[in-house]
Amino acid sequence: MIVIMNNKAKDDEIKKVMGIVEGLGLEANLSRGGSFCVIGLVGDTSIIDGDKLMAIDGVEKVLKVQEPYKKANRLFKPENSIIDVNGNKIGGKNFAVMAGPCSVESEEQIIEVAKKVKESGANFLRGGAFKPRTSPYSFQGLELEGLNLLLKAKEATGLSIVTEIMSTDYIDVFEEKVDVIQVGARNMQNFDLLKQLGKTNKTILLKRGLSATFEEWIMSAEYIMAGGNENVVLCERGIRTFETYTRNTLDLSAIPVIKKLTHLPIIIDPSHAGGKWWLVEPMAKAAIVAGADGLMIEVHNDPVNALSDGAQSLKPEAFDDLMKKVKVLVELEEREL
Ligand code: PEP
Ligand code: MN
Repeated sequence: MIVIMNNKAKDDEIKKVMGIVEGLGLEANLSRGGSFCVIGLVGDTSIIDGDKLMAIDGVEKVLKVQEPYKKANRLFKPENSIIDVNGNKIGGKNFAVMAGPCSVESEEQIIEVAKKVKESGANFLRGGAFKPRTSPYSFQGLELEGLNLLLKAKEATGLSIVTEIMSTDYIDVFEEKVDVIQVGARNMQNFDLLKQLGKTNKTILLKRGLSATFEEWIMSAEYIMAGGNENVVLCERGIRTFETYTRNTLDLSAIPVIKKLTHLPIIIDPSHAGGKWWLVEPMAKAAIVAGADGLMIEVHNDPVNALSDGAQSLKPEAFDDLMKKVKVLVELEEREL
């Protein structure tokens, strides 16, 4: 971080800035010329609030030269993080496929879909029990009953389960019952929720917010990691753009960008990105080739009558076809499913 003082800055203003910086245990290097005065900060500048420095008289600009995140930063941990969920690894050479319906609707539905996606080669079962719906009149999920049905499907198939948490009220029950706790796009910046999840040791699947920048998304991961839980997997699920033909716009650049900036695994959700079932296969294939660590795909046994997101759900047969291609591409990329 560099603090640029204006050319009318007084000595005591410069001293004030240096005092604050040194008081936080950082080094402050002053360079002064005829018409400029800059202070270079050395050390862990993620603890410094640039806005606070900007409020000091005589400060012209505060420039960040280092990212504000530390635990997620590849600079501080060059090797890829590999997250192990009941023996299923995500990251490094390990490719993960999470598949299942948007919502858990009934015991028959979730068990049937779980068996089908397992046969096709998925290693996690997804299914929403607490649903973040745009309309309060839409199906809101089976809630706790839905979690219990996911457990039955886990028992029937051995698949680890991934499901979304919406409120801190349910942290204990999610910790007890769920293998991977999903934070949905709409809750990416629910900092209270992120802090509480940071106190657990569960794997957290953190979806990118609808209009979140990479830095905002990584800072949300940092919230979880700062609490002591470093088991974070990121999920790109499309962002808001001017385009309305697709539900969102899949930002495939998230894969190389997140891999450059962080050591965390990143998976792609082509279902919520495109919003149309026929977009799932081409986007899933592109994601693998671009280096994704996994996929999250919505699969429903009866998409026409699905209680949520039927239009973007693959039938089990289409998912099976897709998985044949996924396996070939994953091998080509020298990864393992
Ligand atoms: C979901 O995965 O069911 C979901 C609601 O996703 P998102 O938060 O990405 O919209
Ligand atoms: Mn959905």
